[in-house]
Order: sequence, then structure tokens, then C-alpha cells
Amino acid sequence: MARYRESVCRICRRENMKLFLKGDRCYSDKCAFDRRGYAPGQHGQRRTKLSEYGIQLREKQKVKRNYGLSEKQFRLTFFKADRLKGVTGANLLMSLERRLDNVVYRLGFGSSRAQSRQLVRHSHFLVNGRKVNIPSYVIKPNDVIELKEGSRSVQVVNDALDAVVRRGIPQWLELDKSGFKGIVRSIPVRDDITMPIQEQLIVELYSK
Ligand code: SF4
Repeated sequence: MARYRESVCRICRRENMKLFLKGDRCYSDKCAFDRRGYAPGQHGQRRTKLSEYGIQLREKQKVKRNYGLSEKQFRLTFFKADRLKGVTGANLLMSLERRLDNVVYRLGFGSSRAQSRQLVRHSHFLVNGRKVNIPSYVIKPNDVIELKEGSRSVQVVNDALDAVVRRGIPQWLELDKSGFKGIVRSIPVRDDITMPIQEQLIVELYSK
């Protein structure tokens, strides 16, 4: 998979909002968006009027980058969501929320989605007692996500768990911090996503 190798703070500045891609740093006064809240690059401070296509593109890029997906992965997720019953835009967001790397992040085991993804890839988690190291694994209601016993002393996980109160746990998840496990109480719904997203713009973009 092609990897993004630039500073991730440029992404927040490009998308004009804090995407919390760097864990603790995002809550500190070192946050690049707080310090320079304009687009990166030589012409970043210029006022530019986006076309209709540009607005749709930026919305798609924002969501894609927030969840840390490549273009190909995001497109596939979109077309899978499009085949489901219901509203495509909401289905897309729910599919993204139900990814294992996102759930690990939401439960507070990782300080960012990128770190959570790496923890999953390195086989630190069990889902319903079985090892799962696939970040795109889709969780279901009543699934139990548990940190493996041998991984409970990993410092980054403990630091992230200590800081989770700052973010809060969404209602559809339940964290048993002392047991190093989380339970999926229900499937997330659209209202559970508080980040401002206009998903219909993404649907329009891919419908062209
Ligand atoms: Fe975005 Fe975090 Fe960087 Fe701030 S510190 S610009 S929120 S990634």
C-alpha cells in the first residue's frame, strides 16, 4: 500500500480542521493547526474559491485521511456501502466506524488511528478470544475486543488508556479498563459520529 510520508499535520491544515492524527500532541500547544490554521504551502494563506467538484473532493479526502485509508481502500469501502440497504453516505460512515483499527482507537487502546492500526497489525488483540490482526476486520454487536495478556505491559497502550477520558468512549462501546477489554454494545448509528461530515458530498463525487 502506498504510504503517506509527509507530515500528517499538513493534512489537518489542508482540510481546515483538527483530525487528531498525532495522539497527545493534538491536545498540546504544539498542534500545528492551532499555530498555523491555514493551508500548507507557499500559497496557503491565499483565499481560494473551490468549485463544486473541489468541495466534494475535499470532503472525501477529509474522511479518507481521518480513517487513514488509501484511495483504493476507501473506494472499495464506498462501493460495498453502496450495495447495502439504506442511505449510502451513512452506510459508508458506519462501515468505517466498524473497522477494528477504529474500534481499538475509540476504546482508547491507541492514541491515534495510525497507532491503533499498528497495534492490530502486530497482533496485540483478540476478538472473541481469537487473534485478529486485520485492521479492516468488521466488528459486530457483542464482540469482545481484548488486549492479549502478554501485551498488557506495553507502555503506549497504558499511556493511551490513561488519556482516554479526554476523548471519551462512544455510547456504542463499553470499556473495561482494568480487564483490558472492550465490548461492542451495538452497531454505531449516524448520530454517533460527531465530527462534521457532509457524506452526501462523497456520494455525489463517486456518482459522477
Ligand atoms: Fe492535526 Fe494533531 Fe497535527 Fe494538530 S497536532 S495539526 S490535530 S495531527
